Amino acid sequence: MRPTGKLHLGHLVGALENWVGLQKEYQNYHLIADYHALTTNPDTKDIEQNSLDMLVDWLSAGLDPELSPMFRQSQIKEHTELHLIFSMLITTARLERNPTLKEQVRDLELENVSYGHLGYPVLQAGDILLYKGDVVPVGEDQIPHIEITREIARRFNTQYRRVFPEPEGKITKFARLPGLDGKRMSKSLGNTILLSDLPEAIKTKMKSAVTDPQKVRKGDPGRPDICLVFAYHNKFNSAEVPEIRKGCESGALGCVDCKLNCANHVIEALSPMREKRAFYEKHLDQVKGTLEQGEKRARMVAQQTMAEVRSAMGIG
Ligand code: SF4
Repeated sequence: MRPTGKLHLGHLVGALENWVGLQKEYQNYHLIADYHALTTNPDTKDIEQNSLDMLVDWLSAGLDPELSPMFRQSQIKEHTELHLIFSMLITTARLERNPTLKEQVRDLELENVSYGHLGYPVLQAGDILLYKGDVVPVGEDQIPHIEITREIARRFNTQYRRVFPEPEGKITKFARLPGLDGKRMSKSLGNTILLSDLPEAIKTKMKSAVTDPQKVRKGDPGRPDICLVFAYHNKFNSAEVPEIRKGCESGALGCVDCKLNCANHVIEALSPMREKRAFYEKHLDQVKGTLEQGEKRARMVAQQTMAEVRSAMGIG
């Protein structure tokens, strides 16, 4: 995950919950992709603080550093070494066909793409294969990158000697949670609820959420399936969903009450995290220690893989 600072509900639903569930089933590696963050913005002013804020959110959400190392990409130099070797095994034409890159260029309105941005799936292949990852939990938009990783692994194994598995993408169970304006949830669009937001802020933000435009006042029949508050109920208040649907469709339920009820369920869901965050924010040395330990563990695995890579290639 790129260190974008404090995380929001979209990160929780789209990734974190999934990772917490997987950590007992698999040996996980949780990468703070700080080099990746530079592909679209080379400014490093906030990168350290953002990494720390994100780590606090990871720990508060229940990721266990004893089970899974958590580490910064920039602190394990083998990532860049493997990236360089892998970059010889793929053509620029193949990378230019990457549909995720095309989407990013469009969404970020980029006029030019840097050499590093074009090659970021190659860096990502290095991130995965350095730890011989065979399962990668991803959203659907990341599947093209897993395919590139598989191609690179295959190419390396054929060219030199089998060192790498061909990883599979494991699609995240839940659909994306929309932002409060109905668009993709994103900090830059200002439509998020942060995992660290206090209850009053959550209530205020929820009040601004877009609902069915045809339901202007209580008494008007609404269409819950096009209302994003209903999507939040589905996720955070599933027990009351049939009743809310009925009340919305008949008009008996008003949006103001419905939103407040929804906000209260989001607040309740985030409450255990809030308590843990308060602890970690007071014990930042412990958080930094978690990173140091994670980096030590990850580095050992990365060095071992690079020794195998060099041996397979006959380069010392
Ligand atoms: S009553 Fe609830 S579900 Fe229906 S439109 Fe209003 S906020 Fe959405």
